[in-house]
Amino acid sequence: MKFGGTSVGSAQRIKDVARLVMSRGKNIVVLSAMSGTTNTLVEISDYLYKGNAAGAKETLNVLEAKYRATVDELFGDDDAYRQQANDAITENIEFVRGYNKPVFTMFDEKEVLARGEMMSTALMLLYLRKQGVNAVMLPALDFMRTDKNGEPDNDYISRRLSDLLSENPDADLYITQGFVCLNAYGEVDNLQRGGSDYTASIVGAAVKAEEIEIWTDIDGMHNNDPRYVEGTSPVGELHFEEAAELAYFGAKILHPTCVLPAKLNNIPVRLLNTMCPDAPGTVIYNAPATHTIKAVAAKDNITAIKIKSGRMLLAYGFLRKVFEIFETHRTPIDMVVTSEVGVSVTIDNEHNLQAIVDDLKKFGTVTVDKDMVIICVVGDLEWQNRGFEAEVVNALREIPVRMISYGGSNYNISLLVRKEDKVKALNMLSAHLFNK
Ligand code: ADP
Ligand code: ASP
Ligand code: MG
Repeated sequence: MKFGGTSVGSAQRIKDVARLVMSRGKNIVVLSAMSGTTNTLVEISDYLYKGNAAGAKETLNVLEAKYRATVDELFGDDDAYRQQANDAITENIEFVRGYNKPVFTMFDEKEVLARGEMMSTALMLLYLRKQGVNAVMLPALDFMRTDKNGEPDNDYISRRLSDLLSENPDADLYITQGFVCLNAYGEVDNLQRGGSDYTASIVGAAVKAEEIEIWTDIDGMHNNDPRYVEGTSPVGELHFEEAAELAYFGAKILHPTCVLPAKLNNIPVRLLNTMCPDAPGTVIYNAPATHTIKAVAAKDNITAIKIKSGRMLLAYGFLRKVFEIFETHRTPIDMVVTSEVGVSVTIDNEHNLQAIVDDLKKFGTVTVDKDMVIICVVGDLEWQNRGFEAEVVNALREIPVRMISYGGSNYNISLLVRKEDKVKALNMLSAHLFNK
């Protein structure tokens, strides 16, 4: 069971989650940092990078006050637990406060970022113990490790987890930190922002869990982004591939990396609402085909690059040369569409854009469109199902569409539109596809 930042965002929420996990039997509970904490730790690191120790300390003081108040609210009437909780907070806050080296590095930042999950898990562990639960900490740094490619070291993780679990057979519940890990060199690292979902999935796969539950602040994957569209509703079932497309293309409820470990081990992932635990949520598994469109998501900050060349006509090897340029500049491509005389691709990382464009100009005329958004429509879009492409394109008839990609998988149609048309596009799709 993984609980995100909002789910543990206040003393009251921590109490609610404690009650919930106590009612569900023996589980491994993965926690994110309390909401806002990781962002604050990023801000503190930013001050430290810039050598502004005062800025870092002021921001840290505000964070500390929030944790002290949370401790009081959780343990106010119990001196022994309050002391232990305050000690855990002190240890983490003082760790950050102790940075006064002239140079603050990426490695230091990762140490700092890990403190959020360390604090939330310490508070939950103690609160559960105060309720008489035999809760045991499985420190993420004792089992969660990535390899030289930054991928989870699954054999090591399974072995270490199984050791830790068998050392504590009498536990009622196990608690661990999401997001936090060690890298192949033994340094403290993390699984990227939002990566607690990934922790849950890696742990679930390692222990061959019956189910991986992602508990958050909404009742499952909605059929459109609730931040931009009113009247969205939860999707009951998704295939692993559908969930992966939605997560990758912007459905923030699920981190895109979370799907693979579950899919490979065929473990269902359930998205559930901490605030409304009885809502059915969304289950992600090898769901049977439904012949329906299920949901829409949008991915921001996309740049489209078009390469047009007479030399492409009837030639082979042209696409390879184009793709090699992106490989050389270590830039992943999201969408590709081709015609006989040109190819358009999209990227979401502009870091090496100028170098890529310079190299592409050796092969053809290059045009760049910035500030674009990929709108991804997901469902059972197997090509022999008729009419879905027409419905999608028809829904967007009032919006200029720069690229359309269909047929890459059985699960999606992607369309590239301008940033300023995103909200309208998402709303038009809901109106035409779901709220007919
Ligand atoms: P957590 O802190 O629990 O990891 P997140 O903020 O990462 O939670 O994810 C939950 C949020 O994802 C929701 O509050 C919602 O605003 C957003 N979201 C975006 N797209 C969707 C979608 N298609 N379905 C549900 N939630 C979505
Ligand atoms: N706390 C981390 C973050 O804010 C990890 C997570 O919440 O999933 O990115
Ligand atoms: Mg999240």
